Amino acid sequence: MDLILFGPPGAGKGTQAQRLLEAYRAPQISTGDILRQAVKDGTPLGQRARPIMESGQLVPDALVIDIVQERLRQPDCAGGFVLDGFPRTVAQAQALDRMLASLGRHLDRVLSLEVPLEVLVKRLTGRRSCPTCGRVYHLTEAPPRAPGACDACGTALVQRPDDAEEVVRERQATYRRQTEPVKAYYAAQGLLREVDGTGTPDQVFGRIRAALDKKTA
Ligand code: AMP
Repeated sequence: MDLILFGPPGAGKGTQAQRLLEAYRAPQISTGDILRQAVKDGTPLGQRARPIMESGQLVPDALVIDIVQERLRQPDCAGGFVLDGFPRTVAQAQALDRMLASLGRHLDRVLSLEVPLEVLVKRLTGRRSCPTCGRVYHLTEAPPRAPGACDACGTALVQRPDDAEEVVRERQATYRRQTEPVKAYYAAQGLLREVDGTGTPDQVFGRIRAALDKKTA
């Protein structure tokens, strides 16, 4: 199954991609995670991407297209993949179509997670994570047992620099301006399904399964 999880920052794409990985064994390809790792490693890509990411803007198309092109060729993607955070522009969507065609494959579905703006802002500004083990918390929705410390390893939790409120609002504006038009691109191909992204991760995953099952029914 070749799938895109689409939606604004904070819609829950990463969380749901993890569940799809468990249920369908399709690896998650998150351009955001790959870029954050490059920033952490201080690679030339990371050095270029860092200030752009911290301002809530998009990294140039050519850079992320290269990342995805390389990742799709890895053997673990042979049976399917879940793209999370890519494509974010119509140019990226067109490049993806070309890449898949050259590999003799095509997208099966584009699932768009729909969440109201104020819920997105609350989700992102309250998000904290453990820099050691990667576990993710939320100040009010999923707080750690001891304030500010990871339940699993006790490390002090951190906030992603781009989860500060000002940057979150800029990321949402960037989404409306540059990424939302990608929905129409996939709707025109008959691939788009909108899924209500509010509620618990379990509720959302139930809706995702229903949307995918409808396809095969
Ligand atoms: P994310 O974790 O998906 O919200 O991505 C974090 C940041 O990485 C974004 O705000 C962008 O600066 C950058 N980024 C991730 N994916 C893309 C993409 N497909 N195109 C351009 N920039 C991206």
